[in-house]
Amino acid sequence: MELLFEKSVSGRKCSILPPCDVDSYQLCSCTKRELPLDLPQLSEIDITRHYSALNRRTHGVNNGFYPLGSCTMKYNPRINEEIAALPGFTGIHPLAPAYSTEGCREALQLASKYLCEISGMDDMTFQPAAGAHGEFTGVMLIKQYHQAKGDTARTKIIVPDSAHGTNPATAAMCGFEIVNIASAPDGCVDLESLKAALGPDTAGLMLTNPNTVGIFDKNILEITRLVHEAGGLCYYDGANLNAVMGVVRPGDMGFDCIHMNLHKTFSTPHGGGGPGAGAVGCKQFLAEYLPKSASMDGEGHIQVRSFAGNFLVVVRALAYIMFLGKEGIPEASTNAVLNANYLMNRIKGTFEPAFDVTCMHEFVLDLGNFEKETGVSALDVAKSLIDYGMHPPTMYFPLIIHEALMLEPTETESKETLDWAADIFRKLYDLGHEDPQYMHDAPHHAQIGRPDDTEAARHPVVRWNQQD
Ligand SMILES: *Cc1c(COP(=O)(O)O)cnc(C)c1O
Repeated sequence: MELLFEKSVSGRKCSILPPCDVDSYQLCSCTKRELPLDLPQLSEIDITRHYSALNRRTHGVNNGFYPLGSCTMKYNPRINEEIAALPGFTGIHPLAPAYSTEGCREALQLASKYLCEISGMDDMTFQPAAGAHGEFTGVMLIKQYHQAKGDTARTKIIVPDSAHGTNPATAAMCGFEIVNIASAPDGCVDLESLKAALGPDTAGLMLTNPNTVGIFDKNILEITRLVHEAGGLCYYDGANLNAVMGVVRPGDMGFDCIHMNLHKTFSTPHGGGGPGAGAVGCKQFLAEYLPKSASMDGEGHIQVRSFAGNFLVVVRALAYIMFLGKEGIPEASTNAVLNANYLMNRIKGTFEPAFDVTCMHEFVLDLGNFEKETGVSALDVAKSLIDYGMHPPTMYFPLIIHEALMLEPTETESKETLDWAADIFRKLYDLGHEDPQYMHDAPHHAQIGRPDDTEAARHPVVRWNQQD
């Protein structure tokens, strides 16, 4: 596809600026550019068609089903966008005097109050700009807590092997050693491995519950009790709170701090690298270590971002929570769980769930046997789904299942969509047995077939090089 620069025709224009209604001012020649600015010259229709074409080549929640496990690609209600676009929210400056930003500060306080209520925490910061950033902030709270007590021997963070990759990465970034513990055959934390890992060097445990295979750990109270008994703290990776919000609270499970991805569960369009918010909540005894706003210069405070973080993401989360209310929040969770179980059971009998139990908001298919029978891999199935206009599920994650596809349909999908998706999975199961080559070559109807993933990640071409 041609870029706007390549479509440019000298002299063509699109006058969208109103006539200047202030006096003009001449810059001194020292600040003027020497070469003319080479911007594309296009008409409005050229630009509109260009962006519409780009839109058609992209898959988002607004285009179709997007069951990307762990990422919660739910529909983002339009009302959130309308509220986040109110001039009172978009037109503020972070250094504006306090009397002129009372409404914005009230919105932050309300969001904090509701999210503390939902997570079972006492205090919160909105500074972190993403989930991994929130993890970093939360684990630094744990580090500061131990340091403040002079307890410098606690150098290890325990992370189960089913954890999201950001968990061990976070612990390492914060200067901890990582102790990996195995999952039991039922997908939960293996209590014996946990007990063996705990000791006077344990700083804490990082856990997602429900975990990344979509199972709620039935031993959660025992797990957090054991960690506390050993002197460690419990960190809850609440990036994805979609199964539990309004139903059960991490704080009541025994966790001391948490991050929540507001861009996932609390509905901000994400996936294109757009703004996020990894709100970090904690129990009262950790609150003194929370990052404070830029004006605070308290000793020992960490500062992970400027001002109050990605404010408009917080506004969307607040709109979402207030719109759903006390009844709607748990209803969204229970519908997410219902949808995941419905889809899992509609697919079962062809591709098999890795754990044949009632799942939470997501589930993992284990294509190991299918791959042995047909030679068709989880990647081939994922690529084949693209031909049907479905976004592929998360692949090869969690690492403990080799041919994994991880599906999270979310609560915003209808029964008709779930039936449609299940039928496609069943069709592909048969196709794998009949014509494996066709699936090795998929997708057949997409803009791009099989890019060199490594090359694309290592040497992305993201800049237009002007040909003179
Ligand atoms: C998405 C996710 C993260 C990371 O969140 P980002 O906003 O992408 O940094 C961490 N943990 C879990 C369980 C997640 O699903």
